[in-house]
Amino acid sequence: MKIFLSTFGTESNTFATYPTSLANFRRGRWSDNGIENAAAGPWSGPAKLWHAQATARGWTICQSIHTFTEPAGTVSRAAYEEIRDRILNDLREGGPVDAVMLFLHGAMVADGYDDCEGDLVTRMRQIVGPTTKIGIELDLHAHMDHVLLDASDLIVIYKAYPHIDYNDRAQELFELMERTLSGEIQPKMALFDCRSMGLFPTTPEGPMKKFVADMMAAEGRNGILSLSLNHGFPWADVPLAGAKMLAVADGDPSIADAAAEEFGRYFYRIRKDASLKFTSMGKAMEIAGAPRDKPLLLADVSDQSGAGAPGDTNHLVRALLDANISNAVFGPIWDPAAVDICFQLGIGTRSRLRIGGKFEPHSGLPLDLDAEVVFLKRDAFQESDKKENMSIGDIAVIKSAGVEIVLSSIRTNVYSPSFFLNHGVTLGDKAVIGVKNLYKHTDIFAPLVSEQLYVATPGLCQPDFDTLDFKRLPRPMWPFEDDPLNCDP
Ligand SMILES: [Zn+2]
Repeated sequence: MKIFLSTFGTESNTFATYPTSLANFRRGRWSDNGIENAAAGPWSGPAKLWHAQATARGWTICQSIHTFTEPAGTVSRAAYEEIRDRILNDLREGGPVDAVMLFLHGAMVADGYDDCEGDLVTRMRQIVGPTTKIGIELDLHAHMDHVLLDASDLIVIYKAYPHIDYNDRAQELFELMERTLSGEIQPKMALFDCRSMGLFPTTPEGPMKKFVADMMAAEGRNGILSLSLNHGFPWADVPLAGAKMLAVADGDPSIADAAAEEFGRYFYRIRKDASLKFTSMGKAMEIAGAPRDKPLLLADVSDQSGAGAPGDTNHLVRALLDANISNAVFGPIWDPAAVDICFQLGIGTRSRLRIGGKFEPHSGLPLDLDAEVVFLKRDAFQESDKKENMSIGDIAVIKSAGVEIVLSSIRTNVYSPSFFLNHGVTLGDKAVIGVKNLYKHTDIFAPLVSEQLYVATPGLCQPDFDTLDFKRLPRPMWPFEDDPLNCDP
């Protein structure tokens, strides 16, 4: 058996004014000498797993590039086409293969390409012909339609938000691919358009946790091989956006159609209850002022680099200072220039500093403050939820009026408390912990804090979609229209 592996992903925020370039991919996660040699992390996990499984079976492995980059604006045409064509060339030169396995994010938009994954996989199908099996793993914040389904044989999407299950889904995809290659199963895929857009965490007790459990209970029964809900990525103005329900059945397309519609309508019924609830800045500061036993966690949801925002706004840290909340930490604020100045100043130096508010029109104003440099580290790292060390560039921690502020030289999210603890910041004694994240920190921080709020700050990733100038979304779409499928009670 001969298998071809590649990884190519980002999540393109089409409202961001700065493009994603080839340099962003090269500076991000980039491996062109085999995924087995790449650093462990969420981006490399799936292909590493497939490589190990194929090796254990004595299969021949043919690889192309593996790369992911932090979400930003639309990918430049040159960057997309260069990486795409390199993958296509490697596939052509690799000779005939029995299977192609791809880890793609699923929400890449490039200049001239609304659907990069559909374009890439359609071209791969033209190279390998109809008999080679193509399997794809996607992040659940993807865009997809029939183009990707027509070009591939198997698609498995994360079920968990936060994304703790990328290796579990990779394992499932590998097992389904192995059964397909042996002729045991014949996957048939179907998609149901849920006409909905939003953010739907799966880990708190509630409707999405039950929805995921119900999907998993239905898999492997009555001809259903796999069920996936693509939640969709909200901050992209493309015609294939929105939540879609994917079903894979064995041999019978009508089983896939029925399952996709059944679970798609099930999700549609719970979409309102399942949506993440946001708190206004004013309300968050009111709550932050109240006494409590453990820290309050405030997530600065609108400026998180994980969804393509710059990560350099100051709104929440300014609000903490204005409210005289003097025992708090906030991070990260992306500001390589301020980090550089802090390294020049050295630990223990007090200075007037200008931080954040620099990078693009949604960055807001910079913040000028008197601060002390309290911690510096080059080539810093934090741990993922799987205890993998993830590089976060150079880190400078400054302190002003009792608020510690973590400045980073590269755009990054907070994956675990190690983001703070590795850099001289204590957490248990704080009144408020502020993170520039949407939801991924929630479960791992839960034992440390009394309450968590998702604060609708100004920024590029506004949770109020009505404030964004969508022009190309398919309509009707909830929440813009109240009941697009005409079946609410
Ligand atoms: Zn995602």
